[in-house]
Amino acid sequence: MIRPITKYGEAVLRGRATEVTEITADVQTLIDDMIETMYAAPGVGLAAPQVDVSLRIFVADPSSGRRVEALSIMINPEIVEREGVQSEPEGCLSVPDFEAPVARPTRVVVRGLDRDGNIQELEGEGLLARVFQHEIDHLDGALFLDHLRGLKRDMILRKIKKLRRSGTW
Ligand SMILES: [Zn+2]
Repeated sequence: MIRPITKYGEAVLRGRATEVTEITADVQTLIDDMIETMYAAPGVGLAAPQVDVSLRIFVADPSSGRRVEALSIMINPEIVEREGVQSEPEGCLSVPDFEAPVARPTRVVVRGLDRDGNIQELEGEGLLARVFQHEIDHLDGALFLDHLRGLKRDMILRKIKKLRRSGTW
């Protein structure tokens, strides 16, 4: 089932999401719904707070569904290795229609659980590394906007404020 995507301004996007302690049927349904919602958006990653669930889960697929093996599902992820720096334009389904360059490590290794509860380590480079970091940020209540400085950030926030005031956000 496709779930509505939460937007900038909603409290669930700013809290620290809770660890998953048991992979229940509800968690499995949530994961299926997150995958469906990500592909429908379409997006290359989605974190549980973006469907209004404050749990530490994300899904990612930089191929947007073109390659089955490109789908990653991560429960209780943590970054265990970081390397290099890349700066590329980044956006977010919860901050629709805005984009700005964000500096992040080029390569990361993420450790967490797969949907069966087995420990897994996934390595990401380039776009995949960016998606992993962006989604883990969501689990800590952070948005890509928080990485921006000065004018660029102020301009986006001002535009969002205007959209919210006019009821079109
Ligand atoms: Zn996002």
